[in-house]
Amino acid sequence: KKRVLCTACNKTFCDKGALKIHYSAVHLKEMHKCTVDGCNMMFSSRRSRNRHSANPNPKLHMPQA
Ligand SMILES: [Zn+2]
Ligand SMILES: [Zn+2]
Repeated sequence: KKRVLCTACNKTFCDKGALKIHYSAVHLKEMHKCTVDGCNMMFSSRRSRNRHSANPNPKLHMPQA
């Protein structure tokens, strides 16, 4: 059976479900998403996320086209 690869850390898993659980537990947990609705910007540190989210300029929070 084909194994699936985690592109973030190169570990392999027996199925997509296991990869998904691993990915959200290990990788997404470390990322901090902008708190502004509709903005999907992700930051690796909470401090830079807060600095971005605190900026009132709506252009900064526009989803990338
Ligand atoms: Zn991984
Ligand atoms: Zn944002």
